[in-house]
Amino acid sequence: MNDSYLSLGSNMGDRLGMLKQAVRLLMEHHAIEVAGISSLYETEPVGFTEQPPFLNMVVRIKTDLPALTLLGICQEIERRLDRKRIIHWGPRTIDLDILLYNQENMETEQLVIPHPRMHERAFVLIPLLELNPELKGFEKPKDQGVRLWKTYDSLDAFVRKN
Ligand code: ADP
Ligand code: MG
Repeated sequence: MNDSYLSLGSNMGDRLGMLKQAVRLLMEHHAIEVAGISSLYETEPVGFTEQPPFLNMVVRIKTDLPALTLLGICQEIERRLDRKRIIHWGPRTIDLDILLYNQENMETEQLVIPHPRMHERAFVLIPLLELNPELKGFEKPKDQGVRLWKTYDSLDAFVRKN
């Protein structure tokens, strides 16, 4: 089984609803086992800053699928949740990125792992290290603009119930 971490973010519309649906679609996939769900963090936008704050989280999965197939599934979930984005790095209903896939490094036109910008993103590192504090090579950043929004427990209860 491959061990992978995905980053999920939303800053348009029903952010929590989008993230819950994305987690549910991952859980329902026959080749994906959701092994961990972080708390939700609210984050001020980076890059294009004149946009609403994001909700961010990290999900740990186990899967037999190759990384590129996993990317295709992430993009399919984005399509199914009707992802809209007008401006690059602007508001979006849902974004799913692959952060890590085992300890592998890969760099193709479609897929770069580890995710190239993850080391500088507090909104990725904080939920990632919440899920696995043992992960090598990552340091917990100061909580720059990252606020705990909802704990794992309440989200987990919702995801399981539905
Ligand atoms: P971003 O997530 O950077 O805001 P997009 O979600 O639109 O932008 O992704 C743009 C492209 O990034 C995708 O078409 C995908 O092929 C590529 N990409 C490269 N590495 C990754 C990765 N680790 N996870 C997700 N997408 C990736
Ligand atoms: Mg993306």
